Amino acid sequence: MIYAANLKCNHTRSGFLEYAGELDNKISGENVIVFPPSNAFLEAKFKFVQGAQNFYPCDSGSFTGEIGAAMLDEFGITTVLIGHSERRALGEDEPFLKAKFDFAKQKGWDIIYCIGEDDITHMNGSTKEFLTDQLENIDLEYENLVIAYEPIWAIGTGKSANSAIITDILDFISTKTTAPLLYGGSVNEKNICDIKAIKNCNGVLVGTASWDAKNFINLIKA
Ligand code: PEP
Repeated sequence: MIYAANLKCNHTRSGFLEYAGELDNKISGENVIVFPPSNAFLEAKFKFVQGAQNFYPCDSGSFTGEIGAAMLDEFGITTVLIGHSERRALGEDEPFLKAKFDFAKQKGWDIIYCIGEDDITHMNGSTKEFLTDQLENIDLEYENLVIAYEPIWAIGTGKSANSAIITDILDFISTKTTAPLLYGGSVNEKNICDIKAIKNCNGVLVGTASWDAKNFINLIKA
């Protein structure tokens, strides 16, 4: 099982240092990835993998406000999140996501690529067509790819998709790729055991329930 924590815009550097120490003390063999805000990247090595929530597809250059590969290299970061719905909502469209994917692939980075439908698409029953389009731009055979299915209507709402929906969608995605599949959307300490039991579910991407180290540790240990 992969346990990935998306800290989003939470934790300062000192806050993350504390978080990282607490988490590191409590995990041993689990496959844990944490995506802190980029200002809080740490140079120390931990038992979890440190990943980048965002990057610009460049090594370095005139891209005001962005972070390129050179900045990730400094912290030994080779795991990136691409396609999160909150980045898509800020304007990251399919051509840009493709550019990010291709850049990360060319670097050989581990990619967690997020896909997921909004409420209207879910309600009108066209989720699978929607996801198929979202997967069109990426190489589904890339060896370092993980796909995270994150229905937008379940993110940050406290209302996870139910097991039947997750099973159906992960089964569907698994007909297209052998990449490990994660589920994300209001995963917490209470529902993690049901989600872990789902066939084709290789892990979870956790937002809110990962921001406090103790909550995230409890979820991992559940
Ligand atoms: C996310 O934003 O990736 C996410 C899954 O958030 P939450 O766990 O808060 O729904």
